[in-house]
Amino acid sequence: MARQLLQQCTVCKAWCLETTCPQCGGNAQAAAPLKWSPEDHRAKIRRTLNNVATPEWSASIPTLPSVEELRAGHGNKEEE
Ligand SMILES: [Zn+2]
Repeated sequence: MARQLLQQCTVCKAWCLETTCPQCGGNAQAAAPLKWSPEDHRAKIRRTLNNVATPEWSASIPTLPSVEELRAGHGNKEEE
Protein backbone atom coordinates (compact mmCIF):
# COMPACT_ATOMS: atom_id res chain seq x y z
CA MET A 1 0.00 0.00 0.00
CA ALA A 2 1.18 3.46 -0.84
CA ARG A 3 1.83 5.19 2.47
CA GLN A 4 2.93 8.40 0.81
CA LEU A 5 2.70 10.14 -2.55
CA LEU A 6 6.27 9.72 -3.81
CA GLN A 7 7.08 6.15 -4.82
CA GLN A 8 10.27 4.56 -6.09
CA CYS A 9 10.45 1.54 -8.42
CA THR A 10 12.07 -1.48 -6.77
CA VAL A 11 13.42 -2.64 -10.16
CA CYS A 12 14.80 0.42 -12.01
CA LYS A 13 14.79 2.92 -9.06
CA ALA A 14 12.72 5.45 -11.05
CA TRP A 15 10.66 7.96 -9.06
CA CYS A 16 6.94 8.05 -9.70
CA LEU A 17 3.57 8.72 -8.08
CA GLU A 18 2.00 5.33 -8.89
CA THR A 19 2.58 1.94 -7.26
CA THR A 20 3.30 0.49 -10.72
CA CYS A 21 6.40 1.93 -12.40
CA PRO A 22 5.49 3.82 -15.61
CA GLN A 23 8.95 3.13 -17.10
CA CYS A 24 9.42 -0.63 -16.58
CA GLY A 25 6.11 -1.82 -15.12
CA GLY A 26 7.85 -2.94 -11.92
CA ASN A 27 6.52 -2.62 -8.41
CA ALA A 28 7.01 0.81 -6.82
CA GLN A 29 6.88 1.44 -3.09
CA ALA A 30 7.10 4.38 -0.71
CA ALA A 31 10.30 6.31 -1.43
CA ALA A 32 11.17 6.90 2.22
CA PRO A 33 9.98 5.77 5.63
CA LEU A 34 7.41 7.95 7.34
CA LYS A 35 8.96 10.86 9.17
CA TRP A 36 7.19 10.29 12.45
CA SER A 37 5.94 7.30 14.40
CA PRO A 38 3.95 7.14 17.64
CA GLU A 39 6.91 5.51 19.37
CA ASP A 40 9.18 8.42 18.28
CA HIS A 41 12.47 6.69 19.09
CA ARG A 42 14.48 9.81 18.25
CA ALA A 43 12.55 12.19 20.50
CA LYS A 44 15.33 12.25 23.09
CA ILE A 45 17.90 13.10 20.40
CA ARG A 46 15.74 15.92 19.02
CA ARG A 47 15.13 17.33 22.48
CA THR A 48 18.87 17.29 23.15
CA LEU A 49 19.57 19.02 19.81
CA ASN A 50 17.06 21.78 20.62
CA ASN A 51 18.18 22.17 24.27
CA VAL A 52 14.57 21.98 25.43
CA ALA A 53 15.63 21.48 29.05
CA THR A 54 17.08 24.99 29.26
CA PRO A 55 15.08 27.98 30.55
CA GLU A 56 16.09 29.90 27.40
CA TRP A 57 14.14 27.44 25.26
CA SER A 58 11.09 27.77 27.48
CA ALA A 59 11.27 31.55 27.18
CA SER A 60 11.50 31.33 23.39
CA ILE A 61 8.10 29.62 23.02
CA PRO A 62 5.47 32.03 21.71
CA THR A 63 2.66 32.46 24.21
CA LEU A 64 -0.89 33.69 24.02
CA PRO A 65 -1.85 36.77 26.03
CA SER A 66 -3.43 36.11 29.39
CA VAL A 67 -7.22 36.07 29.79
CA GLU A 68 -7.06 39.47 31.47
CA GLU A 69 -5.08 40.93 28.56
CA LEU A 70 -7.56 39.43 26.08
CA ARG A 71 -10.52 40.91 27.96
CA ALA A 72 -8.82 44.31 28.12
CA GLY A 73 -8.00 44.19 24.39
CA HIS A 74 -11.51 43.11 23.48
CA GLY A 75 -13.00 45.94 25.52
CA ASN A 76 -10.78 48.48 23.76
CA LYS A 77 -11.84 47.24 20.32
CA GLU A 78 -15.50 47.64 21.18
CA GLU A 79 -14.90 51.25 22.15
CA GLU A 80 -13.28 52.07 18.78
ZN1 LIG B 1 10.79 0.75 -12.89
